[in-house]
Amino acid sequence: MSFFNYAVSKTIMHVPSPVVHHFAKDYVAGNDLDDAVRVCRELSAKGIESTLDILGEYITKKEQALPFKQDCIDILETIHRDKLDANLSVKPSQMGLLMDYDFAFNNLRDIVARAAELNGFVRIDMEDIECNEDTIKIYRILREEFPDHVGTALQSYMRNAMDHLELLGDGPINLRLVKGIFIVTRQQAWRDPELITRNYIQLLERMFELGAYVGIATHDERLYYEAQKLIKKFGLKREQYEFQMLLGVDPELRDLIVSEGHRLRVYIPYGKQWLGYSRRRLLENPNIARAALGQMLRG
Ligand code: FAD
Repeated sequence: MSFFNYAVSKTIMHVPSPVVHHFAKDYVAGNDLDDAVRVCRELSAKGIESTLDILGEYITKKEQALPFKQDCIDILETIHRDKLDANLSVKPSQMGLLMDYDFAFNNLRDIVARAAELNGFVRIDMEDIECNEDTIKIYRILREEFPDHVGTALQSYMRNAMDHLELLGDGPINLRLVKGIFIVTRQQAWRDPELITRNYIQLLERMFELGAYVGIATHDERLYYEAQKLIKKFGLKREQYEFQMLLGVDPELRDLIVSEGHRLRVYIPYGKQWLGYSRRRLLENPNIARAALGQMLRG
């Protein structure tokens, strides 16, 4: 990261929310589940699947988890009732993981159990380092009970990502592979973008060797190229993997991936708590972040 981009990343946390909203609105479907369903249907008409996410994270009181849990169940029931090409993504911190492991585990179990009843699927997002080990642990337990209905994610910036993958090799594996977006220390995560990319490719290859179903989540054209080579090398059929992208990011690459015959799933966040998510999206796009800062400075 250049010094300028580093400075941008430090400053973006102080940009006022109306400015963030203006620049980040393309990344969020809207305030309500109906908005997410509308976007999901639009994508479906183009042959694109979705994963729906109710925004909100790092709750500080247990009572806050329960409405989010209900939202997750409503999403699963809506997907089932309306026959949407979609599944659910959920954040462990939204279920209280940073307060009480057992409480969060039980919430996540209830959600995955409902998904299993409806023949749905839940992807447990991977958040920051505080959640990392526990998220893997929860995934390992839940996949024993609901092998076809739950997955999680691994981050290639984590220095221990390969160790976590090997740990998962003792059962069916369903993983989203990402570079990683949270603020982590040098001891925990690689900082060099080239190294993160190389680790991503190595992890993807090992996942395929282990017979994992992988959601290859990236907007990096080089990774798309490398993933295609690995898909060919392992002779994978279309149903054995998928690409994933975020709503609002590089629709041109998205359409290219679909036109080349791959499955593609778009992550659709919605809800009133869009600020944290939107700030992270701005951080990933220095050009837009600079424009947001410029607007803030101009007042
Ligand atoms: P990059 O090298 O960051 O980006 C490649 C290209 O895409 C660059 O040109 C870049 O400018 C462009 N780009 C990337 N982001 C944006 C943006 N916001 N706006 C405009 N252009 C952009 N991270 C986690 O830590 N945990 C998760 O559970 C998680 N889930 C994710 C789910 C999905 C479906 C996706 C796609 C990403 C997820 N991420 C998650 C975020 C991920 O870790 C990366 O931060 C993000 O995908 C950017 O990495 P990249 O592979 O696209 O490569």
